[in-house]
Amino acid sequence: MQQERLLKVLVIGDLGVGKTSIIKRYVHQIFSQHYRATIGVDFALKVLNWDHKTVVRLQLWDIAGQERYGNMTRVYYREAVGALVVFDMTRLSTFQAVLKWKGDLDSKVALGNGRPVPAVLLANKCDQQRQGLCSKLPKMENFSREHGFVGWYETSAKDNTNIDAAIMCLVQNIMSVE
Ligand code: GDP
Ligand code: MG
Repeated sequence: MQQERLLKVLVIGDLGVGKTSIIKRYVHQIFSQHYRATIGVDFALKVLNWDHKTVVRLQLWDIAGQERYGNMTRVYYREAVGALVVFDMTRLSTFQAVLKWKGDLDSKVALGNGRPVPAVLLANKCDQQRQGLCSKLPKMENFSREHGFVGWYETSAKDNTNIDAAIMCLVQNIMSVE
């Protein structure tokens, strides 16, 4: 018998860091320069044949508009089992907001056993690294571990770098904790 698992995963981070682009790249294999700030909450579904007896239905929750307030309502977080926390490597302020987003997440949702939901940190727009802030950023490996992320990746929704890897890392963590 095949079993099906529905996983609600949140994609959070400041406005313009590439959340919608990451979801579109992962689910529809597309990228567009065209900036469109959708309003409200939207989600995309990706079905993964996880193993011979498990199908994972991955629901990626996008936010739009609300990220300008730096936090989300409890309703949005409800029943989430994981999160991608995204910042833009070319904008320091979006990195500085990462801990605020992680704090918002951990204060509004937790696993059944009270532990925080797994979160992966994404340093997006790595295709623009030359204009980036690498010298100003702390050692990401340490930062990520110290602040309770299960992993971190330099990603590019534009070039399709590490998007699959980052999401696989998250899903693997989710599937192993439950
Ligand atoms: P959101 O507000 O977090 O959903 O950000 P969007 O996905 O709307 O992206 C904001 C802008 O950044 C858009 O113009 C995107 O085309 C651009 N963008 C997103 N990801 C990347 C990336 O990996 N590299 C580059 N160069 N631009 C990106
Ligand atoms: Mg968006």
